[in-house]
Amino acid sequence: MTAIPGLEEQHLHSGKVRDLYDAGDGQLLMVAGDQISAFDYVLPTVIPDKGAILTQMSLWWFEQLADVIPNHVVTADVASYPAVFAPYADQLRGRSVLCRKLDMVSVECVARGYLAGSGVKDYEANGSVCGVPLPAGLVDGSRLPGAIFTPTTKAPVGQHDEAMTFDDVVAAVGAAEAARLRDLTLAIYSKGRDIAERAGILLADTKVELGYDAAGALVLGDEVLTPDSSRFWPAETWRPGGPQFSYDKQYVRDWLAHESGWDRSGPPPALPDDVIAKTREKYIEAYERLTGSPFKAM
Ligand code: ATP
Ligand code: MG
Repeated sequence: MTAIPGLEEQHLHSGKVRDLYDAGDGQLLMVAGDQISAFDYVLPTVIPDKGAILTQMSLWWFEQLADVIPNHVVTADVASYPAVFAPYADQLRGRSVLCRKLDMVSVECVARGYLAGSGVKDYEANGSVCGVPLPAGLVDGSRLPGAIFTPTTKAPVGQHDEAMTFDDVVAAVGAAEAARLRDLTLAIYSKGRDIAERAGILLADTKVELGYDAAGALVLGDEVLTPDSSRFWPAETWRPGGPQFSYDKQYVRDWLAHESGWDRSGPPPALPDDVIAKTREKYIEAYERLTGSPFKAM
């Protein structure tokens, strides 16, 4: 992502798929793009409307979670944005959120309800994930007896986040805060998992970003419970014993791994149109199954 031409002065940061702008008055404007990543690369092809779909999904989740934790959303109505953004309303509509600037917690708050990814390696080596002991006999994709808090460090750009134990979090932020972070992360995950399950989606794990507002309250920031911050698996194909199908990225992965001829040593190739179209459909399907409402591109 790069700054929208004309907004260079407000532009603060670009992540893999989102841009952050200073909106003045203790507020930020978060703008999601249509980029997609796979196998740790941002692909050269965009998925049309992905940024808008995930933004709408996140806004919906913030509402569902309002009884668990307050959130950073001020408004997603472009007409109410600060005047400096008015000339860019058409580019911002549907895929941006004006939010309160928070003092972000220095820990990546991750919850897992299933064994996957780095959790599998940790479990196979230690019988635990981030120091949380687990029963014997679990395999890649197993549902855990209960959701667990598996925090990581927030590594600087270019470095990998590292697993933290709960005691590491206590050392970083103190016992009372560590317990609050853990309990809130697990409450957000558990509510999300239960809702997603009713829509036929298994929420294997998720990362949430928490921060403190001006009054010192812990608030949910960033995006929440989207396929970019969480593992979404289709319930109907869930088979513990190996890597699971991805709800949203399976067509992309299959094509890159088996049809593209790409060896993963250099930049990935552009996606063909049918892979783009089928992937876009999956994001829309996830949105519609979760929310029960049609997705409308704005
Ligand atoms: P990546 O693409 O790997 O996610 P990134 O995390 O640097 O990279 P983004 O996720 O696009 O990029 O950036 C969002 C940044 O904004 C994160 O650092 C996040 O912690 C921060 N953030 C999210 N919400 C708020 C908020 N309300 N106040 C302050 N910072 C926030
Ligand atoms: Mg991020």
